[in-house]
Amino acid sequence: MPTREKNVEAAQWFADGPSAVEVVDLTLPENNIYGENVFGPAAQRARLPKAVYRKLQATIERGAELDPSIADAVASAMKDWALAKGATHYTHWFQPLTGSTAEKHDSFFGPTGDGTSLAEFSGKELIQAEPDASSFPTGGIRATFEARGYTAWDPTSPAFILENPNGATLCIPTAFMSWTGEALDNKIPLLRSMEALSASALKALALFGDDESQRVFTTVGAEQEYFLIDEQYFYARPDLINTGRTLYGAKPPKGHELDDHYFGSIPERVLAYMMEVERELARLGVPIKTRHNEVAPGQYEVAPIFESSNVGADHQHLVMQTLQKVARSYGLVCLLHEKPFAGVNGSGKHNNWSMGTDTGHNLLEPGDTPHDNLQFLFFAAAVIRAVDKYAGLLRATVATAGQDHRLGANEAPPAIISVYLGGEIQKVMEACASGKAMRSTPRSFLGLGTPVLPSMPLHAGDRNRTSPFAFTGNKFEFRALGSNQELGLPNTILNTIVAESIDHLSAELKRKLGKRGATLEKSVIEVVRETYREHGRVVFDGDGYSEAWHKEAEKRGLLNLRTTPDALPQFITASTVQVFSKYKVLDKRELQARYEVYVEQYITKVNIEAETAANMARTLILPAALRQIALAEAAGIETITEEIASVTEEFFTRLNALEKANANHPHGTPIKHAIYMRDTVLTAMVDLRETGDALEGLIADDLWPLPKYQEMLFVR
Ligand code: ADP
Ligand code: MG
Repeated sequence: MPTREKNVEAAQWFADGPSAVEVVDLTLPENNIYGENVFGPAAQRARLPKAVYRKLQATIERGAELDPSIADAVASAMKDWALAKGATHYTHWFQPLTGSTAEKHDSFFGPTGDGTSLAEFSGKELIQAEPDASSFPTGGIRATFEARGYTAWDPTSPAFILENPNGATLCIPTAFMSWTGEALDNKIPLLRSMEALSASALKALALFGDDESQRVFTTVGAEQEYFLIDEQYFYARPDLINTGRTLYGAKPPKGHELDDHYFGSIPERVLAYMMEVERELARLGVPIKTRHNEVAPGQYEVAPIFESSNVGADHQHLVMQTLQKVARSYGLVCLLHEKPFAGVNGSGKHNNWSMGTDTGHNLLEPGDTPHDNLQFLFFAAAVIRAVDKYAGLLRATVATAGQDHRLGANEAPPAIISVYLGGEIQKVMEACASGKAMRSTPRSFLGLGTPVLPSMPLHAGDRNRTSPFAFTGNKFEFRALGSNQELGLPNTILNTIVAESIDHLSAELKRKLGKRGATLEKSVIEVVRETYREHGRVVFDGDGYSEAWHKEAEKRGLLNLRTTPDALPQFITASTVQVFSKYKVLDKRELQARYEVYVEQYITKVNIEAETAANMARTLILPAALRQIALAEAAGIETITEEIASVTEEFFTRLNALEKANANHPHGTPIKHAIYMRDTVLTAMVDLRETGDALEGLIADDLWPLPKYQEMLFVR
């Protein structure tokens, strides 16, 4: 069917009909679906013996070591709960280094020998499984001949049920490791880093006189951007199917220039879709809060309420999976690629991050009392130091082939990592650094009142859309993540580098407190001052997109790692290895493995793109051009024939260049290979696309074989 006719069909979709979700009376308790598919504390309390429940909670809430003797009881209760929900199978749900999740389903049911079957699930099966690990990326940690890998139950993230029209599956969040004990996933390092940060933060809190808190949790809430397009267009585009982004497509006459989409009313079909996504996620206990249109046409955002990093990271996988799954019942496809459409805003993910005590105190929240504010300044300074010291590593955690089309472009945070504090907090930090805070008189802010120190606002109202790392009132927002990214790795990095920083500041504070006549106030301000003097260079409140900032950043000695091959080596620098070994989050081998996996993924992705681009050129675009030439020839108008023929010849030349470039990959180190892909293959693709997009403007609409940007972005 020609695309034009598909457009009409795509636009005719409406929300009622079989897929419509019934509207119910939400004042009735039975209609509250939140968490109904989660084996959370409520279900656990209802089904577990009291003693078992208490021991399990101790592990979940305080990180107490899991008592293996309770496993059988938990397994049995979990199984009964799951069976009651129609689950026939269970799976250890884990997060290999592919960036997505993995499952291998096993049935609860086994034959009894008398011709019937019985459902069984033991503590052993709950605690450990042994998936064949040979098919997951390990970066050389585990050779294929030693395929053994283990998954281990993570009791701190609740089990849940995934439904399918034909049955249900119990999913048990697990960690994934090699049989020699190395982490092969993103969960183990995240849990280790949470442990490290908790220990460091508690030590610091003790210096502030806090003897109540027993644990500090890191928290995450991620704002997820995504595109929706009608599925008819998706399946007509080999590039979207193979690579997640369009490799051809001329810029449409209308983009987001009119700013008529952002926060505008949500199209009916999309809203219906969002509501079902939220319903599904609510049943899975994912606390979705916000939905809205995003800047680009066809682009949207969803955000949950923040949770502990581990649960939040697990839930983020469910968000991405649910967004994609539900789209299909609305005739839509959800695109999570960071840059599906060239020249149109890409999609990111804002990783809101903070630390909070088990007594409910957010350590990055400016407080009401001078004491609270001192503590806030201390922890905020620790974060600033961490970001400055490990900026390269933070950059590396968001480096992927897809992100290279976004970071550094005029729409996403720059590749230079800097911190935005917001006017008020920055003034306070600067006052500390300049020493003015020391000369002040008691009573007002921080008990050190001075006109240069405005009282600390509860919410720094300012926003800076261009900053990759912004303080937003009571949390830092790491805004450089790609829409496709999982949260485990970036939060592991954040937790670890901040733990190191807190320890560094604590040591300084302790030293100062040991001096005669020292007060907490004075000592903290001194520590903050020294930290800010040394690391304040990373703080920037201007336009991160501007050329001027690039120059200024260079002057300040900040790294500008423009592309993925530039950034990835940061995973294995001496300072990275040092801090990750010290905090026992990732050892040298585990870091090296990640580095190798990411380099490999970059090469593979660019190679798939290059092959897809060449293939589309040969089998879709070139034939269309030849038909157009024939049409022009038949009309007997030479100038028209010449125009299309010359562009087609140029296209063919560039196609040959791309094929040649991609046929001659260098042998050498993987990073050299990655650089070749970037400098030679990607550039050949860009050249080819340029001519391909020119042809789009010359070829008869009914001969053009691909849905165009204007339909993909605007028909809904
Ligand atoms: P904005 O668009 O202004 O950044 P949103 O409301 O869209 O704000 O998103 C803010 C995100 O920050 C939400 O996901 C929210 O849960 C999260 N968040 C709020 N407080 C914290 C915190 N203490 N730790 C981690 N994330 C937080
Ligand atoms: Mg935000």
